[in-house]
Amino acid sequence: MTTSSDSHRMEKIVSLCKRRSFIFQSSEIYGGLNGLWDYGPLGVELKRNLKNYWWRVMVHERDDIVGMDGSILMNRSVWKASGHEDTFTDPMIDCRSCKSRLRADQVIEKKGSKQCPICGSKDLTEPRAFNLMFKTYVGATEDESSITYLRPETAQAIFVQFKNVIEVSRKKLPFGIAQIGKAFRNEINPRNFTFRSREFEQMELEYFCRPEQGMELLEYWKEERLKFYENIGIPRDKLHVKTVSDDERAFYSKGTYDIEYDFPFGRQELEGVAYRTDYDLSQHQKASGKSLEYFDEETKQKFVPHVVEPSAGVDRTVLALICEAYAEDEAPDEKGKMETRVVLRFHPRMAPIKCAVFPLLKNKEPLVTKAREIVNLLTPHMYVFYDESGAIGRRYRRQDEIGTPFGVTVDFETLGEKDPALLDTVTLRERDSMKQERVRISQLAQRLLARIT
Ligand code: ATP
Repeated sequence: MTTSSDSHRMEKIVSLCKRRSFIFQSSEIYGGLNGLWDYGPLGVELKRNLKNYWWRVMVHERDDIVGMDGSILMNRSVWKASGHEDTFTDPMIDCRSCKSRLRADQVIEKKGSKQCPICGSKDLTEPRAFNLMFKTYVGATEDESSITYLRPETAQAIFVQFKNVIEVSRKKLPFGIAQIGKAFRNEINPRNFTFRSREFEQMELEYFCRPEQGMELLEYWKEERLKFYENIGIPRDKLHVKTVSDDERAFYSKGTYDIEYDFPFGRQELEGVAYRTDYDLSQHQKASGKSLEYFDEETKQKFVPHVVEPSAGVDRTVLALICEAYAEDEAPDEKGKMETRVVLRFHPRMAPIKCAVFPLLKNKEPLVTKAREIVNLLTPHMYVFYDESGAIGRRYRRQDEIGTPFGVTVDFETLGEKDPALLDTVTLRERDSMKQERVRISQLAQRLLARIT
């Protein structure tokens, strides 16, 4: 159940995202465009850290998975064969009174009769199928022969390149192809900030296997994916695995899990993990007339591989990271009086900026020079931010609000003015505990790297 404090929390998160340049409404100066968002300087860093970490654990750290990057526009035949042209639809209902377009599952039922959730009218149309794919034309003529669609998922490029990839990678089953890229869906009702957008990114893996391995690998990938979310700072108790029931599941799937997260607006899907059998490859094999079979050297058997697909949303995960990180606590102001502190407690691995470097005073040249040297020392390893303006407490607070896990302050002790033993040491402040300790400059990079990689 969503309470008013949850929606208040969500409002604060949306406003922080705009104020601190994580996420803006697309085309804002023209009034925006519903369901479309732009990531600002900090949002893009967060998103990149997420995608890079996914790529690292799914591709670089494994020898059974390779990556690819397919085109967004594909031959229309792909969407016919995959079933998207005929069945990638949501049931839509129109309210004849207020003219709202509604997804059928948003219509409320009161005393046995359906009502518009916006104006309360019962004058509604029957549900009809609305295809979520954006149609476009390729080339100079806009006719039936030039129609195609913006891809509604990245997976199909993997299926249609399966043969090319497996042949050149010389891999044996089980074997996977991973991809991160944009997908587009003309959602009837985009909502909950970026949660349901019309343009979004997916991180998808198609893990090909023998038919008898499918169910076991479905369990394996569900567990791997849960571990992934924990490793980026989403605790296990906020994650839920929903077993998708027989009647909700795609007819070709033998098992599907939804991994859900407790967003402030309710428990919602982050990722689907589905055992899709050999449906996709078989469909493309049939429609294209090209063999997509795998030849097993040992058993001398030829067959169409089965596939398990963990399919995650980049934008939904970014939103979950922000929602999970958002916290308010108390910290002393300049005069030692306690005040409310807004802090994004990102896992250091995900934080947009890893370390902020501050000279205690901006008009003391030796402090500034030393601080600049530290920036140069750390920059090859991580994204660092230099800030010399304002009181030091205020500078810390600005970094807390954007989730920077570490702050380094160069003070007079760094210059050896108070105690020669402290020469070339700095104050290292930790965002969450606000604890400060003295660290040698020569040890900084190593200390921070251990926490952020
Ligand atoms: P939903 O039921 O929420 O519409 P779905 O089950 O249709 O999602 P899939 O087709 O399984 O979603 O897509 C895989 C993942 O892609 C989802 O788990 C989600 O993270 C992401 N995704 C799908 N649709 C959207 C969207 N409109 N906006 C943002 N992310 C999306």
